[in-house]
Amino acid sequence: EEWKDRGAAVSLRREVDSEGRTVIRSVKKGVRDFSFGRILGEGSYSTVYLATDRQTLREYAIKVLEKKHIIKEKKIKYVNIEKNTLNRLTEHPGIVRLYYTFQDEQSLYYVLDLCSGGELLGVLKKTGTFDVECTRFYGAQILDAIEYMHSRGVIHRDLKPENLLLDDQMHVKVTDFGTAKLLPDPRDPRPQQDVAGQNGQDDRTASFVGTAEYVSPELLTDKTAGKPSDLWAFGCIIYQLLVGRPPFKGPTEYLTFQKIVALEYDFPAGFPPAARDLVERCLVLDPNRRLTVEHIKNHEFFDGHPFGKNLWRMKAPRLR
Ligand code: ATP
Repeated sequence: EEWKDRGAAVSLRREVDSEGRTVIRSVKKGVRDFSFGRILGEGSYSTVYLATDRQTLREYAIKVLEKKHIIKEKKIKYVNIEKNTLNRLTEHPGIVRLYYTFQDEQSLYYVLDLCSGGELLGVLKKTGTFDVECTRFYGAQILDAIEYMHSRGVIHRDLKPENLLLDDQMHVKVTDFGTAKLLPDPRDPRPQQDVAGQNGQDDRTASFVGTAEYVSPELLTDKTAGKPSDLWAFGCIIYQLLVGRPPFKGPTEYLTFQKIVALEYDFPAGFPPAARDLVERCLVLDPNRRLTVEHIKNHEFFDGHPFGKNLWRMKAPRLR
């Protein structure tokens, strides 16, 4: 019952029936429809495999979660949030898409977009820092994806370079929606309590979610996280791309939190002035005074840079 598969994806299959007529049947995909390849990565509750759809030869990443482990670690709620959220975010190139879900006795399976470029963090570690052109391109893609999530009533709450994957074109795909917060979908005609009820809409009861370095001050002081919290993380990420490390980093989580609530960080010499102005206006303690997505798109740092469809048609700049 806990794993009930609502709105499961199906594929259409053309078949010839016993009387020779062509019929279109909808068939639910299952484990046997894929051949599993190498392990792409492992998380605390999952293993991600490269997999090929036997019928189409299209490649995917399949995340396999062991039911026993999830129950033991009391993570059922997060697993369901991740699935419900991904099912809401299916029409943007900057979000890892969930194509099918299925299960067998032991495991849950999520069939996802393959991100063969790995994590943005890995790429950043290799180059050390990004130049302004790369930071602008990746910043624009991250912002465009945030705008889409927010327009669908999703607050990510754990944006960081580990959760930004890269596809074969080296374009961004946001992942890891296990700690997302679902607001009522502005486009959903159902009454609100039917929709958002499962993860508790009361901000104030939210316990700490996210990663210390990117967590917003309002989550630490008021236990509230809203759309502005994702833009705080965005400011931290822009800084990190240019400097090579996040703005707030103490030797312990607690000391990191202290730096965040005191807004204690600085810019190394040579930090580009337009980027500095942008970061300073994102890293504002009061979430109501922080830049919004719209403000950021119009900020001089992104001067003339495309957003929307044209942004996703662009060739990724060479990493420097
Ligand atoms: P944790 O649950 O411990 O926070 P995680 O969120 O990274 O870990 P997963 O999302 O299961 O766990 O991912 C495990 C690994 O697989 C990660 O290192 C990630 O880079 C890789 N991975 C996840 N999704 C994909 C994908 N769609 N394409 C390619 N690699 C992926």
